[in-house]
Amino acid sequence: MSGYDVDLFVIGGGSGGVRAARIAAQHGARVMLAEEYRLGGTCVIRGCVPKKLLVYASRFRAEFDDAGGFGWDVSHATFDWPTLIANKDKEIARLEAAYTATLDRAGVGIAKSRAVIADAHTVQLADGKRVRAAYILIATGAAPGYGDPIDGVEHAISSNEAFHLPRLPPQILIQGGGYIAVEFAGIFAGLGAHVTLVYRGENILRGFDDDVRAHVRMDMEKHGIKVVTGCKVAAIERIGQRLSARLSSGNQVGVDCVMFAVGRPPNVAGIGLEAAGVAIGKNGGIAVDDYSRSSIANIYAVGDVTNRIALTPVAIREGHAFADTVFGGKPTIVDHRNVPTAVFSDPEVGTVGLTEAQARAQLGRTDVYKAMFKPLKATLSGRDTTVLIKLVVDGLTDRVVGCHIVGEGAAEMIQVAAIAVRMGASKADFDDTMALHPTTAEELVTMRHKSASYAREAAE
Ligand SMILES: Cc1cc2nc3c(=O)[nH]c(=O)nc-3n(C[C@H](O)[C@H](O)[C@H](O)COP(=O)(O)OP(=O)(O)OC[C@H]3O[C@@H](n4cnc5c(N)ncnc54)[C@H](O)[C@@H]3O)c2cc1C
Repeated sequence: MSGYDVDLFVIGGGSGGVRAARIAAQHGARVMLAEEYRLGGTCVIRGCVPKKLLVYASRFRAEFDDAGGFGWDVSHATFDWPTLIANKDKEIARLEAAYTATLDRAGVGIAKSRAVIADAHTVQLADGKRVRAAYILIATGAAPGYGDPIDGVEHAISSNEAFHLPRLPPQILIQGGGYIAVEFAGIFAGLGAHVTLVYRGENILRGFDDDVRAHVRMDMEKHGIKVVTGCKVAAIERIGQRLSARLSSGNQVGVDCVMFAVGRPPNVAGIGLEAAGVAIGKNGGIAVDDYSRSSIANIYAVGDVTNRIALTPVAIREGHAFADTVFGGKPTIVDHRNVPTAVFSDPEVGTVGLTEAQARAQLGRTDVYKAMFKPLKATLSGRDTTVLIKLVVDGLTDRVVGCHIVGEGAAEMIQVAAIAVRMGASKADFDDTMALHPTTAEELVTMRHKSASYAREAAE
């Protein structure tokens, strides 16, 4: 690929871009990558990793509360937000350095700069420098959105700022019903804040199984989070140190902080897509084919900017597959089916495959197996919580097409269950597997009776 300065220019140093750059370099390509903020991208700097650290912090409250039933006295536990944030920041800086070192070792040139496409083979950096590239990979991710314009929106923060608040807000209103809103509701409530979650839809966690949605909401409310649905924030006003949020219902809520988590539009604006003729898809992301190739033959896109499935492991797989396809001589398509996913809420959710509603719409016959029970730990702790385990089965083939878990350890369980679901395990395979006792997960292999739907049970 002589005639070019590099074989590959990657725009964006997040999950997808870093993996693609490293693998392409290992395949022998001359690679350059531009990152305008911090290497590691959303996941490492202000997404999955810092969020999970905050989730861990928030869960100590329940552990301390539960400890009494097991004979412990931890009644004098106190929490310090600045210590948590400082320790989290230290770990994120360590990870950022590790990402930089990995790219250095692979021989990838790093430009700490915004990059914009000037034409199909040229990328321009912030200082005006132009780099000619045989291939361009767009991996610019997504950014927090704020929904419809409202008065006072400038007073609201997004998840980006939530990681750097100077103090824990005593009262917070979170608008949104997706996993980020629900997770932060759990984080702030666990750390001691009064949380109101406001969502315009009929129930939180749209797209998840209906039983999961109902169960999570029920438990969140039991644990003191106020969930207001069918409603949104209409205006925000600053009154001294506090904020007043006017809801579409007419109610006024006084809080110390308003956070919006109402979706993450792909970062497609102002990066020169028009200059190169790169097309946007109906989903608002860069339109790509199965190999992540855009409408322009030498320009590819991976990760959140394509708005396929906005998760780190998916972006990483897409970046890796791109590098193998273009520079490794191994055309690779990423399978976007049966992607396991978690909500690190309180209670936690792990899910893979079809929801009951999807299965009923897509399959000839659907069987559902469900267990709802008090976990063993709650017997001594006295915690008012139940676990939900649900298998969705193709009634004609007996294949397990969906697995949904709500409760402690759900994310860890679902990662393993996803292997079985992806391999096409039948309900009989689950039943033939010996139970591991005493665990929550043993219910996955001991459910023998088909259930009516949760919604029906609740109504009866
Ligand atoms: C609060 C939160 C929690 C999350 N939790 C999870 C989770 O638990 N599990 C999970 O799987 N996923 C989670 N995600 C989603 C996950 O972070 C993303 O799916 C993932 O980071 C996408 O990777 P990416 O490479 O596509 O984009 P990103 O990681 O966003 O990287 C894009 C990079 O491009 C840079 N950039 C943008 N434009 C330019 C430009 N013009 N020039 C140079 N650089 C540019 C950005 O600064 C950014 O660093 C979470 C996200 C958030 C916000």
